[in-house]
Amino acid sequence: MAGLTLEIVTAEAMTYSGEVDIVIAPGIMGQMAILPHHAPLMTMLEPGELCVRKGPEETLIAISGGFLEVLDDKVVILADAAERADDIDLARAEAARRRAEERLKSGAPGVDHARAEAALRRSLARLKVAERTRKREKRLT
Ligand code: ATP
Repeated sequence: MAGLTLEIVTAEAMTYSGEVDIVIAPGIMGQMAILPHHAPLMTMLEPGELCVRKGPEETLIAISGGFLEVLDDKVVILADAAERADDIDLARAEAARRRAEERLKSGAPGVDHARAEAALRRSLARLKVAERTRKREKRLT
């Protein structure tokens, strides 16, 4: 019984638009679950995994940070980037993870630590969404 409208918007596309039962998002203060009748809210999101449930269906989306607003049973997420598992290029995410890890390990002067950390978290979110979705699909077949 869907009771929330969810829109996930990036500069490039509308990644999700529809009725859902629950949204679990990576808020800056930790994971947050949004159910119908949630109080109005505006918060920032960390790079991470967003989970959307509608009946028996669960969709995982990699989010690379942004804003989330809840108002009158409508959840709007403005994200820097958002990808469903099918749209994730695994080799690219792996390469981004390795690059970020090497930068963080190198301790070389000129490495922007915060930037490398953020890149690492984006890549890990993508890898996790792809892996978890693949495992789930395997279980269902
Ligand atoms: P990279 O270093 O590989 O560009 P990134 O984390 O810096 O990774 P972003 O700046 O978060 O990339 O995203 C830029 C654009 O590329 C966005 O449209 C995002 O959806 C897309 N993108 C980034 N990585 C992937 C990936 N592994 N699979 C699919 N799309 C990706």
